Amino acid sequence: MKILVINSGSSSLKFELIDTETKKTLAKGICERIGISNQIFTYKNKVTGYNEIEKPTPMQDHKVAIQVVLEKLQDKTNGVISSMDDVDAIGHRVVHGGEYFDDAVLVNDDVIKKIEELADLAPLHNPANLMGIKVIQKLLPNTPQVVVFDTAFHQTMPDYAYRYPVPEEDYTELKVRKYGFHGTSHKFVSNRASELLGKKDSKIIVCHLGNGASISAVKNGKVIDTSMGLTPLAGVMMGTRCGDIDPAVPLYIMQKRNLSASETDTRLNKKSGLLGIFGKSSDFRDVQDAMINGDKRAKLAYEMFCYRVRSYIGSYIVALGGVDAIAFTGGIGENAFRAREGICRGLEFLGIELDYEKNKEMISGDVEYSKPTSKVKIYKIETAEELMIANDAARLVK
Ligand code: ADP
Repeated sequence: MKILVINSGSSSLKFELIDTETKKTLAKGICERIGISNQIFTYKNKVTGYNEIEKPTPMQDHKVAIQVVLEKLQDKTNGVISSMDDVDAIGHRVVHGGEYFDDAVLVNDDVIKKIEELADLAPLHNPANLMGIKVIQKLLPNTPQVVVFDTAFHQTMPDYAYRYPVPEEDYTELKVRKYGFHGTSHKFVSNRASELLGKKDSKIIVCHLGNGASISAVKNGKVIDTSMGLTPLAGVMMGTRCGDIDPAVPLYIMQKRNLSASETDTRLNKKSGLLGIFGKSSDFRDVQDAMINGDKRAKLAYEMFCYRVRSYIGSYIVALGGVDAIAFTGGIGENAFRAREGICRGLEFLGIELDYEKNKEMISGDVEYSKPTSKVKIYKIETAEELMIANDAARLVK
């Protein structure tokens, strides 16, 4: 089946057309600065290798952006399909599914209403995700749409892991609890790790380390705990997000700096993490380069990042009652050997033995980086969120 995967953000829209039989991407790209100024469009035809990078293209709203995408996909010279009838379904990434959804679903009025309702919990994401769904409903009323939620895979957590020790009514009335995010990636990577281990009953810790980062503990295919919470701000230290801190810190900063709630939110979401500590960039490559050149703040940012991931691994080994494999994924987890090294160093006493030499080698595909003597396997697994969304859409449409 051919599935068009859409990830609609507030001012950007990523798309990827995937053939689920061959698991190949036919075309992909991104519309950026939608509704702002100087809108740009990037398109890559993966069949012919034709590329358009950041081409100025007027896109005053999401409707025009999606029209641009659909026209390009059907373009006589550089498109990959002859008409939209070739597309079997559209798969949308939606950030928050709350407690309603533990799997992907076909779009209907009730699903749309629930995604709207959940905008309270994800005000930056759910309304933007919905824009994509509503535009497709208008433009392609006969094409089935499926939504895949970032939170769904984490819905198996037991209550003692997902509840916060706050007054009961904050949970019952406001739905304050841990939800977890990056679920599609955690599902894909834990399944793949299980395959590589050659057993279904397995204890796996997935470290999804990108600009956003989260860790999950997966037992026999089910999440039992994860590091992100009510929002993606919780857990490990990230590019610009603080991760776990004393919950009194934001209140203290607010009072002392005379900030509003939204200014404080921005400070913790956009100005903290690697950027807050290093000061110059939130990009892990920049942190590494500066550290190698002797920058003390970069070294501290790197050490804090590794320490915080390592602490989660320790905690999840206890939660799982052991561990068979640790799987690294995401831009940092897949590419930054220094991150894997800094995280795994010193864990040999737990049977976690990284092959430090092999770990330095950039090898494409899924790779085992643990020593043959290691009791716990250490994998690098390339995440494939778009393929997962396409597979879910194909499964539901069938
Ligand atoms: P997002 O959460 O935006 O999807 P990604 O998964 O693309 O993020 O990860 C982006 C992060 O991966 C950045 O911090 C970037 O520096 C890091 N990264 C990408 N490639 C490399 C590399 N070769 N070495 C070290 N870090 C890398």
